[in-house]
Amino acid sequence: MEGKAIIFSAPSGAGKTTIVHSLLDRIPSLRFSISATTRSKRPTEIDGRDYYFLSVEDFHSKQESGELLEWEEVYSGTFYGTLQSEVERIWADGNHVIFDVDVKGGKKLKQIFGGQALSVFVKVKSEEVLRERLQMRNTEDDETLNMRVSKAAEEMKEEVHFDKVVLNENLDVAINEAESLVKNFISIK
Ligand code: 5GP
Repeated sequence: MEGKAIIFSAPSGAGKTTIVHSLLDRIPSLRFSISATTRSKRPTEIDGRDYYFLSVEDFHSKQESGELLEWEEVYSGTFYGTLQSEVERIWADGNHVIFDVDVKGGKKLKQIFGGQALSVFVKVKSEEVLRERLQMRNTEDDETLNMRVSKAAEEMKEEVHFDKVVLNENLDVAINEAESLVKNFISIK
């Protein structure tokens, strides 16, 4: 039997990844779709857990062989893509798949999975909040920080394309809200 697909998208810095990780802790039947990326690995990340870190050549060969359900050049020169094999693996085990993808990718995945998917947009109140959070995270140099903030400002306009919107002003409240949305959706036959 096929499971469901839960899509989380948000401007960078809105707290989406934290929310997705909390949902994975709280909802046992959820499994994370590990994306392929050409970005370099951050010190805390593990290949095959957070991402499959690929060379540009390996990524292109996956694009060409049709192994990616969707892919985006999320930042100039940096590719990210959803592997069909992740969805197959997770559904074959009787679980539901959760995606952490950018806004364009989220829209595409919703088109692919239709009513089998719940798409959730995580937002914050303002661009300034995003900048502060990205600065606090301290993973970006000035150039990539500015790139992420300007992309995020554009993405903030896209919430209308999603099934549900979660405002992340207080993280615990946002996680609880996300948890009940997802639990409701996966319990619908
Ligand atoms: P980060 O570099 O911070 O891990 O991710 C940057 C952005 O790329 C985030 O918005 C993340 O959700 C998105 N992303 C991660 N994997 C994928 C993917 O497979 N497809 C798309 N379209 N975006 C992705």
